[in-house]
Amino acid sequence: MNHWRDSMSETLFPKHMRQAGERELAIEWNDGHASVYDVRALRLRCPCAQCIDEMSGRKLLDDAAVPPDVKPVVINPVGRYAIHIEWTDGHRSGIYTYAQLRGLCACEACTRGSASAR
Ligand SMILES: [Zn+2]
Ligand SMILES: [Zn+2]
Repeated sequence: MNHWRDSMSETLFPKHMRQAGERELAIEWNDGHASVYDVRALRLRCPCAQCIDEMSGRKLLDDAAVPPDVKPVVINPVGRYAIHIEWTDGHRSGIYTYAQLRGLCACEACTRGSASAR
């Protein structure tokens, strides 16, 4: 899989997605990268217009208002570029593009900020 050199190109997509545990969503990307997301962290980073002010980019969502045990009810693909998540707290307008999702990866390599280095 080493020929996926320009890893941030638009060909990036999840090859495999699964509930890895009660609170974790695991995604295996087509470039070989593996991400594990804390589902509540994903909820708190919801990019929809109710959670983020589109004009200013300011976060509108109150983290404290999100139940500690929130998790996805349904995860649906949106076209070939995003997923739509419905949550147990009733929130259902969140659409995460693959690029956004990948940007939220909390693994060591990504948080070190070296993701673009190769
Ligand atoms: Zn939202
Ligand atoms: Zn990562």
